[in-house]
Amino acid sequence: MKHLSILAAILLAVVLGGCNPKGMVSTNQEIEIGKQSSKEIESKYGIVKDAQLNDMVNTMGQAIAKCSDRPDLEYTFKILDQKDVNAVSLPGGWVYVYKGLIDETKGKPDELAGVIAHEVGHIAARHHAQMMGRELQAQILIGTLTKGDVQQVAGVFANVQLLRWSRVQEFQADKLGVKYMYRCQRWDAQGLVNFFDTLLKIQKNHPSKFEQIFLTHPVTEERIKRAQEYLNALKAGTEKP
Ligand SMILES: [Zn+2]
Repeated sequence: MKHLSILAAILLAVVLGGCNPKGMVSTNQEIEIGKQSSKEIESKYGIVKDAQLNDMVNTMGQAIAKCSDRPDLEYTFKILDQKDVNAVSLPGGWVYVYKGLIDETKGKPDELAGVIAHEVGHIAARHHAQMMGRELQAQILIGTLTKGDVQQVAGVFANVQLLRWSRVQEFQADKLGVKYMYRCQRWDAQGLVNFFDTLLKIQKNHPSKFEQIFLTHPVTEERIKRAQEYLNALKAGTEKP
């Protein structure tokens, strides 16, 4: 029952589009929940052990995290052994790239970096805390959150198939992703938009495949348009990086 009510709270939070006040969940609590979820995700989906691939993703991720608005968190970047084209983040600094995304962006590091920057954007904007819902945040605030509660919340984040960000959160993570790439000056900040274009091409050619693609972050024309406009504004100097 408890699990159901947490799920309901999360769905409500998603529907409301992240209206919850920020800052009620502390960084330490985010890390505690993220750490627990990371164990569940890794045992559930499996991790790619290829040292070279891991090194590539970790080096890229750590560099992007340093350009983010939360550079002091300890970040972990790993590859999930799944063929879907997707990526997920957990509260407190964990980012998982799916093997299917690595394959899809092979030879296009700017696109992979763009997706990782988008995930770092979710973490930096503390979207996970918003997703936890008011009820749970209040519990955390008054200190009644038990170890069992942490485990249950962690279980929700580890259930990747059920996670959906709101449109507002996606727009914000896109914007932050583009901003961090632009700050880093190490990859083409156009990478995220190019990746979205690739996804839309796949959607046209293989509609059935697309249902599984970037499932947790549905791509729309509106998102592409907004991200491109924001990047143009950064380049024109009308937005500050
Ligand atoms: Zn997203």
